[in-house]
Amino acid sequence: MVRAPTCPICDRELAPSSITESPVFPFCSVRCKQIDLLRWCRGEYAVVDRLLPEQLADQLADQDTAE
Ligand SMILES: [Zn+2]
Repeated sequence: MVRAPTCPICDRELAPSSITESPVFPFCSVRCKQIDLLRWCRGEYAVVDRLLPEQLADQLADQDTAE
């Protein structure tokens, strides 16, 4: 079983063609590449297991403030 390579940021499967052709490999997009750069540049994110895409992070934030 060969698992399709996925973006380390958002876990989206990468298109086979993008693996060799994409300038942002191993990320799915420029945005995810920038998120990864930010994560490394900002020490406070070192304790976060995975920096979530903004949209998902917003959803989690809503859940946190729902109580
Ligand atoms: Zn991604």
